[in-house]
Amino acid sequence: MAQPAISVKDLSFSYGDTLAVDDISFDVAGGEVIGFLGPNGAGKSTVVKMLTGQLTPQNGSATLLGMDIVKERKQVQQEFGISFEFTNLYEQMSAVENLNLFAKLYKVPDFDAMNLLEKVGLGGREKEHVANYSKGMKQRLMMARALVSDPKMLFLDEPTDGLDPVSTETIHTLIRAATQQGTTVFLTTHDMVEADKLSDRVAFLNQGKIVALDTPARLKQRFGMRALKVEVELPNGDIEVREVTLDEDQTPQTVFDLLKNERILTVHSEEATLEDIFFDITGRGLQG
Ligand code: ATP
Repeated sequence: MAQPAISVKDLSFSYGDTLAVDDISFDVAGGEVIGFLGPNGAGKSTVVKMLTGQLTPQNGSATLLGMDIVKERKQVQQEFGISFEFTNLYEQMSAVENLNLFAKLYKVPDFDAMNLLEKVGLGGREKEHVANYSKGMKQRLMMARALVSDPKMLFLDEPTDGLDPVSTETIHTLIRAATQQGTTVFLTTHDMVEADKLSDRVAFLNQGKIVALDTPARLKQRFGMRALKVEVELPNGDIEVREVTLDEDQTPQTVFDLLKNERILTVHSEEATLEDIFFDITGRGLQG
């Protein structure tokens, strides 16, 4: 990897006796989307808070775009956009006012708030107080806010949580457009479908540790089980579902026997989801 956009070495953080992040190390290339997946309390937010300067690591070090996250905190903070909880939205201001204020803070020349608000689907509602926005609208405004300075790096926490499918697709399109321009994206989510779709690589975080980090395809190859789901009609008219595991010595014979002896209604191929794999590795689900 050329100089990584994010480089993390032996990072740890405890809240009192609670070890939230336990000695993690990883690199992220420029323009890469890294998905951080893990159940509630796995330590995802704590990692983001350290990388973005809201918490100081108690152990280890990290650089963003070559800059030390502790020693060069102020410079680092100029380089990324973040959509993380709603705490930084001014509820008594409109969406346009929120974005303009932010653009001023980041000294963005010729900033066009309306253009950005149209892109996230908030055109027409831009003058209302943010306090009156729905959760999904705030979510989209957070995304717009993260994009104000056209940053080289984006930290996105559950960016489509609570959004309808059309708004979700809008946000996904914006994320892809940003990565095509070389923006690096650090995505934290419980949503394995979203992570699978958007991430170049995913990291599974469990109890503060990275337990796997790879491309979704390679994780599926390594841990997943490929199978066929075959619906057969029995002589009495009942329908039965048979699962045939692929890649085993007896698979060809099993498939042959099914084709020869049974009345087959449908055949579907199945592959493991990231949720299945997370469960295999950790013994727990992503929602728990
Ligand atoms: P979620 O998906 O719910 O946002 P997460 O993966 O982001 O979870 P963190 O918020 O980083 O997890 O929490 C990691 C651990 O640290 C948990 O055990 C949590 O209870 C604990 N923790 C987080 N913030 C604090 C805090 N301010 N004080 C004490 N403990 C905390």
